[in-house]
Amino acid sequence: MSLPDGTRRKRTVLGWLTIAMVAAACGAPTSAPPEGATTETPPTSTDQTLPAVDREAMKEDQDTAVKAVDSFWHRHFTQQSGQPYQSPRVAGAYIGTHGPPCGGEPESVPFNAVYCRPGDFVAWDDDLMAAGYSQIGDAWVYLIIAHEWGHAIQARLRSDRVSVAAELQADCLAGATLQGAADDGLITIEPGDSEEIAKTLAAVADDYPWTKESDHGNAEQRTSAFNTGAEGGVGACI
Ligand SMILES: [Zn+2]
Repeated sequence: MSLPDGTRRKRTVLGWLTIAMVAAACGAPTSAPPEGATTETPPTSTDQTLPAVDREAMKEDQDTAVKAVDSFWHRHFTQQSGQPYQSPRVAGAYIGTHGPPCGGEPESVPFNAVYCRPGDFVAWDDDLMAAGYSQIGDAWVYLIIAHEWGHAIQARLRSDRVSVAAELQADCLAGATLQGAADDGLITIEPGDSEEIAKTLAAVADDYPWTKESDHGNAEQRTSAFNTGAEGGVGACI
């Protein structure tokens, strides 16, 4: 994904809807998240040697993703919820345990991305971003940020509009956000993004189906949730 520059082909909603199923790349079960934080399953182990990453380019993509996702919600949150929109804080990139404290937890979770409800901020381990950015592609960054933002949106919604399957709803909101941002001309969907999104969802999926609140859902369920949002918009998620 990228900023629109008029030279790249903008894909229609069908681009997202044809996301292919990819086998889950990570079998690690989700551990219990710290109090007040919504954590994600690490896609790979931290001791893996990463290919070289252009961190400058990755940072640009992160900034573009944050701007596009925030702009999308500025445009659409009130219309969807009847409430005013306030952006969450973006704490941004951290390394390992040196992230911003959340809800009394002094250390961040390494190789993770998080929406911290007590602090109302989104943050991510730079190495997590780099792993997906180098191994899967730039759509990884957009999806992680849109998903965590989805949790910030859930925190702003009336509680009866937040699904008990909060992780799958965040995937749905991410689909609605990225497709909606493309439809609004905030970002451009490039060839290959759909495949990257599918791989990202598979990499961060649980290897078992959703049964309880903390579950993220398996690859099929996460892909299906994302597609529901991409096809039906925010209203299909809440
Ligand atoms: Zn999540």
